[in-house]
Amino acid sequence: MRRAGAAALVLVLAALAPACRNRAASPPAAQPAPAPAAAPHPAQRFHRIDVHTHISPDGVDRAVRLMDEWGIDGMVNLSGMHPGPPHHALERQLAAAQAAHGRIAVFSTPDFRLVVQRTDYGAAMADQLSEARRMGAIGLKITKGLGLGYRAHDGVHLLAVDDHGLDALFERAGELGMPVAIHCGDPQAFWKPATPDNERWDELQAHPEWSFANSGVPSWQELYDAFDRLVGRHPKTTFIGVHFGNDPEDPDTVARMLDKHPNLVIDTAARVPEIGRHPQEKMRRFFEKYQDRILFGTDTGIGEDQEDMMYGSNGATPPTRADEVRFFTETWRYFETLDRQIESPTPIQGRWKIDGVGLPDPVLRKLYWENAVRVLRWQPPAR
Ligand SMILES: [Zn+2]
Repeated sequence: MRRAGAAALVLVLAALAPACRNRAASPPAAQPAPAPAAAPHPAQRFHRIDVHTHISPDGVDRAVRLMDEWGIDGMVNLSGMHPGPPHHALERQLAAAQAAHGRIAVFSTPDFRLVVQRTDYGAAMADQLSEARRMGAIGLKITKGLGLGYRAHDGVHLLAVDDHGLDALFERAGELGMPVAIHCGDPQAFWKPATPDNERWDELQAHPEWSFANSGVPSWQELYDAFDRLVGRHPKTTFIGVHFGNDPEDPDTVARMLDKHPNLVIDTAARVPEIGRHPQEKMRRFFEKYQDRILFGTDTGIGEDQEDMMYGSNGATPPTRADEVRFFTETWRYFETLDRQIESPTPIQGRWKIDGVGLPDPVLRKLYWENAVRVLRWQPPAR
């Protein structure tokens, strides 16, 4: 059903997008002016770094195609995994990224099996991170498995987000100048019963395993409080709170976290649908106030084939080309226009429309590029 509607959607978007841009420009002249010959495609108006993607080694060619088409200069692949035997996954990711000629940077994820295997697991993971850095990784990615899935040293209990055994790892990240992209918790609705009145019902129906209702995991708030303590305990380490600081439902809490922790920045990955439902003026003020602390990210998943793709989130069937067009078109529209009640980039994340924040160009340049260059200490070659 999504597929059937998708082709029509491309036509609708193609028809709508230029109209909304004209509206923002000067009023129509009596005589239509000739179009400037070399006007850049709207997607190409800014330089962009997407700090939050997941690229499989065979997806690099597709990633470059995506970047070229949608005006993205560089991507950060958060799925770098860790170095060494048996899989040498980081080595493979770094080798694959070379085909993108400097446009893909790679974060490493620690091997959490070390927590059960060794009493000095924090030191072992820190050394693994140093090795990843030596190989070329530029950051550390912590998945939501911390707090929701990885086992503590006893092999029975869940490893806490602010487990003291991991201190050596987070300290080392700071010493190495590697930012820590951390996903803690998940949408709050995933803790509520997966019933038709759940606001994430469409997504939970497609992925019942994403529900944490009655699952025995810590509450959303317990995880978030541990995240707060973790960031506070390592002030010399820069944390990127992914998915809008892990709390897109409540920008006031995110603001308090940013005020409290100078070492915290956030990304926008896969949460435009969520932040886009808050009042337009409130979110615009948020983006202006924290203009040095927000990094553009999408959570795009990229494999070899179209059916391997993920644009923020997926339904029961693989996404189509039309889903891609809508995802990027509506994402740029959210950040760059004040259009109200527009299509969400990822409708499966909630049946509501969103209001754009229409950021001024200097703020957009920080969001899309400058903040990432500063935090990552990396930049792709000029397009
Ligand atoms: Zn992600």
